[in-house]
Amino acid sequence: MDNKKLADLLFPDVVNTPEYYEEKFPYRKLPSKAEVTRMAPSPTGFIHLGNLYSALADERIAHKKGGVFYLRIEDTDLKRKVDGAVETIIKVMRYFDIEFDEGAGFPDDAPNNVYGPYYQRQRVDIYHTYVKDLVERGLAYPCFCEEEELAKVREQQDADKVLTGYYGKYATCRNLSYEEIEENIKAGKEYVIRLRSQGSPDKEITFNDCIMGEVKLPENIHDIVLLKKDGVPTYHLAHAIDDHLMRTTTVIRGGEWLASVPIHYELFHVLGFKMPKYGHTAHLMKFDEVTGGKRKLSKRKDPELSLDYYRKDGYHPYCMKVYLLTLLNSNFEEWHEKFPDKDINEFPFSIDKMSKSGALFDKDKLHNICKNEFSKLSEDEMYDFLYDWAQENEPEKCKVWFADKEKMLAILRLYMGIGAKRRRKDFIYARQIFELISYFFDIEDNQEKDEFKKDKETVDAVLNEYLSLYNHEDDNSEWFNKLKTIADKFGFASDMKAYKANPENYKGNVSDIAEIVRIAVTGRANTPDLWSIVHIMGEDQMCERIQKVING
Ligand code: GLU
Repeated sequence: MDNKKLADLLFPDVVNTPEYYEEKFPYRKLPSKAEVTRMAPSPTGFIHLGNLYSALADERIAHKKGGVFYLRIEDTDLKRKVDGAVETIIKVMRYFDIEFDEGAGFPDDAPNNVYGPYYQRQRVDIYHTYVKDLVERGLAYPCFCEEEELAKVREQQDADKVLTGYYGKYATCRNLSYEEIEENIKAGKEYVIRLRSQGSPDKEITFNDCIMGEVKLPENIHDIVLLKKDGVPTYHLAHAIDDHLMRTTTVIRGGEWLASVPIHYELFHVLGFKMPKYGHTAHLMKFDEVTGGKRKLSKRKDPELSLDYYRKDGYHPYCMKVYLLTLLNSNFEEWHEKFPDKDINEFPFSIDKMSKSGALFDKDKLHNICKNEFSKLSEDEMYDFLYDWAQENEPEKCKVWFADKEKMLAILRLYMGIGAKRRRKDFIYARQIFELISYFFDIEDNQEKDEFKKDKETVDAVLNEYLSLYNHEDDNSEWFNKLKTIADKFGFASDMKAYKANPENYKGNVSDIAEIVRIAVTGRANTPDLWSIVHIMGEDQMCERIQKVING
């Protein structure tokens, strides 16, 4: 067969050669050891925690040594396209402080965008050039098989218990003559272009995955589709050409692609490209509450896989990043503890320290990290974070709760233990913080309140006495002494030692008095220092709430 003639028949419009693109996109001039990495999502706009996990690894690898991290949009499958998806992706990544250096989202004429276009649909000429070259070299051919025929073959293969797919003797279009092909095309038959696989069923490839280590996989033997009927490439072909021409040096991507490596290995080989380093990330796993075993996080079952989940509840993106780094690099946590004030971007991120087995997603661990990181923020930083979240997620409350900035700052100071001997660690995420401090703005009639209503007489007597002794000018210890006085008056112990020695002699002790006041004022049995709360709240609000209990 005259392959050159066939190539011209199939690609009459292709004017360039692979050499043209090789020259157009020369190797990048970067400092030695600098890596070029990318994020290559399809434009669904949906990014989950697993994508963020891989992207953060890619970004760190590029940026720790002055390399490039770019955004390429894999939009060959139009069914999956969602309007505004690219903006969403960039926004979500920016929220987590992950910035691209080039690629989609930058203006076409941006000085850094010289390896574009970065949308695969705009690169069809490039793909056709390379496929034409493969046809010319006898490594690709047109296939006219229709879906129904392929389905029948697959059925037969299933029945014969042999590997399903288009390969070997099943690849019926492999050996069509030039005349047959020409005739089919003239008759208007549609076709795809397939790879003429050089693989052998009894051979393996040994592939060095930079995360998984050495992986042995069977050679690809399938004549996979390179160009679909409409001339648009498949992911396999497009990403190989793009990673090569965009001069990508390392690809960290989801573990679900590991099984496709034999195809990619063959493609890079037949295209004459050097393969970038590949690293396939381990799946994010979680403990299944039902079975007690570990399982993969699933889109369907686990809302925590979606990044929206964290945004809606107001997890601080910095805490998320710290957590993901903890999952990504086993030595990050120790480093971060040792250098708590260092910018986390200074951490010497290393692929070698990435987990081979599934990284275990553990919400308690994430929460501990949030508590810790929040305890390092100032009240102003916390104020800004909460305010931004509330504006977006709780607009009505935002107006009321943030109307008095000083009051909110004082609440935050109290809850964060700012000015106290030790910083408190109560805060985890914005919605939880809102629930913790809500009583400053609304008081609910809750269970705990019902509890003390059982002994309404004592409660009322204690509260009346409290109000009559109350002086807003009292300092914390004067105020507490008054609680002791009330305790003595109503048969509660004011002295804890005396109480412990003979508890049966008392109705309770001074902490029960404090609890009555606490629940009346806040509706809660557990709060930070009550004197401080009362002084943030103000005398009027305190009296009003106590009065309401007495009247109730
Ligand atoms: N477009 C592929 C995806 O969204 C990217 C895979 C890769 O990073 O090579 O999963």
